[in-house]
Amino acid sequence: MTIGFIGLGIMGRPMAKNLIKAGYKLTVYDKFAKFDDLVALGAGGAASNKEVTSKSDVIITMLPNSPHVKEAILGDGGVIEGISSGKIVVDMSSIAPAASQEVGAALKAKGVAFLDAPVSGGEPKAIDGTLAIMVGGDQKTFDTVKPILEKMGSSVVLVGDIGAGNVTKLANQIVVALNIAAVSEAFVLAAKAGVDPAKVFDAIKGGLAGSTVMNAKVPMILDGNFKPGFRIELHIKDLQNALDTGHNLNVPLPLTANVMETMQALKVDGMAANDHSAIVRFYEKLAKIEVRK
Ligand code: NAD
Repeated sequence: MTIGFIGLGIMGRPMAKNLIKAGYKLTVYDKFAKFDDLVALGAGGAASNKEVTSKSDVIITMLPNSPHVKEAILGDGGVIEGISSGKIVVDMSSIAPAASQEVGAALKAKGVAFLDAPVSGGEPKAIDGTLAIMVGGDQKTFDTVKPILEKMGSSVVLVGDIGAGNVTKLANQIVVALNIAAVSEAFVLAAKAGVDPAKVFDAIKGGLAGSTVMNAKVPMILDGNFKPGFRIELHIKDLQNALDTGHNLNVPLPLTANVMETMQALKVDGMAANDHSAIVRFYEKLAKIEVRK
C-alpha cells in the first residue's frame, strides 16, 4: 500500500519518518516547509497535494486547523483533484468535528472513504511512534488503515462515526489545558510559600494529583524551557473549536472559557509561539514569583 503524507511540521515530520522506517513507500508534500530530509530517507517528493494523492493509495494529512485541511483536500490543486474511487484519506489534524464531516461528505461523493484520526501525545510521542490516536469513521476503513496507524501510535481506537475522533480530541484538549492551569496555580502557590517546587513535584507526582500532563510539563516549567512542543496558538485553536462545538450543542464550558482567556492574555504578552506549559507564566505574573529549580 503506498502512502501520501501532507503536512510535515512538528508532528507530521516524525510521523512520516516512522512510516518510512516501517518500510512503507511514501510520497510527501508541505506547502511551506522543506522536506529534503524525508527525501534523503527514501520518500518521493511531490509539488502539490494533488500530485501526492495521484501517487498514493492512502493519503494522510497533518495540518494546523479546519481551513488548512479544507484547502489541502478540497481546494485548488488539492487532494480531491488527484483522487479516485477506492483511495482512503485520513486526516490526523486536530480540527472542528463539523469540518471533518464536511470533508468526509465531499470525498464520499467521489467514492472515497475518510477517517478523522487526531492524535495526542505531542512531539516526543510522535518521534517514538507512541501517540494515542482517536478515530472517527467506518469499521471497514478503520481495519484497512489500522496497521499504518499502529506504526505511529501505541493506542489506536475507533470511537464512532466521522467527526467522533475530533470530538474526542476536543475533550482531550479541555482536560490537558485545565490540568496545566491547575498545576500552574498550585506550583505558584508552593513557590511563593517558599517550598522548593522540584520537591513538591517529587512528593505529589505519585499520588492522586499526579498526571501525564504533570510529568511532561513540570520539568519544562522548572527549567524555564517553553520551547514548543505544542504551541499556545494551537491550543487556542482547539479551545475555540471546543467552545464553538459546545455552544452549538447547548453545552456551556465555563472552565474552558476561563483557561481560554488565560491563553489569550499570554498571546497578547507575545507568548503565542511558546509551549502551552507557559500557562504557568500567567500565574507567575499574578503572584510575582517564578516556579524554577
Ligand atoms: P505545524 O504548524 O508544525 O505543522 C503544520 C504543517 O502544515 C506546516 O509545516 C505547514 O507548512 C503545513 N501546511 C499548512 N497548510 C498546508 C497546505 N494547505 N498544504 C500542505 N501543507 C500545509 O503543526 P503541528 O504542531 O505539526 O500540528 C499539526 C496538527 O497536529 C495540529 O492540528 C495540531 O493541533 C495537532 N497536534 C499537535 C501536537 C503538538 O504537540 N505539536 C500534538 C497533538 C496534536
